[in-house]
Amino acid sequence: MVRLSGVGRSFGSIRAVQDVDLGLERGKILALLGPSGCGKTTTLRLIAGFEAPDAGEVEIGGRTVAGPDVWVPPDKRKVGMVFQDYALFPHLSVAQNVAYGLPRSAKRRGRVAEVLGLTHLEGLGERMPHELSGGQQQRVALARALAPEPAVVLLDEPFSNLDATLRNQVRSEMRQILKEAQATAIFVTHDQEEALSLADEVAVMMDGRVLQAAAPEELYLRPSSRRVAEFVGEANFVPGTVENGRVHCVLGSVPVVEAPEEGREVEVMLRPESLVLRALPDGEATVTGREFYGHDQLVKLRLDSGETLNSRLVGGFGFEEGARVSIGVWGPVVVFPRPGTGS
Ligand code: ATP
Repeated sequence: MVRLSGVGRSFGSIRAVQDVDLGLERGKILALLGPSGCGKTTTLRLIAGFEAPDAGEVEIGGRTVAGPDVWVPPDKRKVGMVFQDYALFPHLSVAQNVAYGLPRSAKRRGRVAEVLGLTHLEGLGERMPHELSGGQQQRVALARALAPEPAVVLLDEPFSNLDATLRNQVRSEMRQILKEAQATAIFVTHDQEEALSLADEVAVMMDGRVLQAAAPEELYLRPSSRRVAEFVGEANFVPGTVENGRVHCVLGSVPVVEAPEEGREVEVMLRPESLVLRALPDGEATVTGREFYGHDQLVKLRLDSGETLNSRLVGGFGFEEGARVSIGVWGPVVVFPRPGTGS
């Protein structure tokens, strides 16, 4: 439904977006995830048509909308936008806001009612935007974007204006609405939890490039590089060597998801929740601290060999500071080539 091929955009000497290839199927939700300044908003604006690429092509619904010698303006691209501040028309009612992009026709009123129902805004059509909560205003912005049945809905940091307690609830509601509308959607976020929980596909961007685009589980469990692993969740890294298709590290011999060649020196990624602890007086590590979160706890460890690791455990008891433990790895693990140790 949306395809970017070799897309680039520079502002003077700043290469905001470089060589971006992305594809999104109909009905799927894509998150553009990355730190501030990585180029995600520029990518969204290139799809919307608020920026023109200086390299590559953008396709929407099988039609090239930007590329060498092709330029389709934003209002002809069949995209729906949800802006960070919602950009509702303050002097128009909810229903008038939603009707704004619809052609005048006999079906208009029916479509507005339908979309208000879809976005759980029934009965609020006559209200003015300032009479709504933040979450409701966001749903009006979404309803307005969905009303003309766009090929793709683009959302710029859709949850940044909501307080933390509302965010989780609004997030799953947003996913449900987009799925029910069978909409294809792309949203920008710097919050990895938001990306993983809401999207079907996540594209991790850094320095204007897409480092990896994959389903959330794939991205978290099989990151393609240490940078992606560190950005998407927490990770411990210890050195290791590949032997007999397994990796040998300070925690013993562990199975590997995909083993590089024998003898290769690698960095072993250990997600905190894959480290299993057992209280054992002659274990190989000491608990140096603990952060208790209720639903889980982060246990800080120091191995006798000097390395420090974090383990995340479900449940609340055990493992006080100073306790001796043995660490098991719930594998298989992902490894990355160690910089400066061969190809
Ligand atoms: P944030 O999360 O902070 O919004 P982002 O990942 O969305 O960041 P972009 O807004 O796409 O990043 O910006 C990417 C780079 O391009 C940044 O270095 C930014 O300063 C630069 N940039 C973006 N728009 C312009 C512009 N109109 N003129 C000059 N530089 C720009």
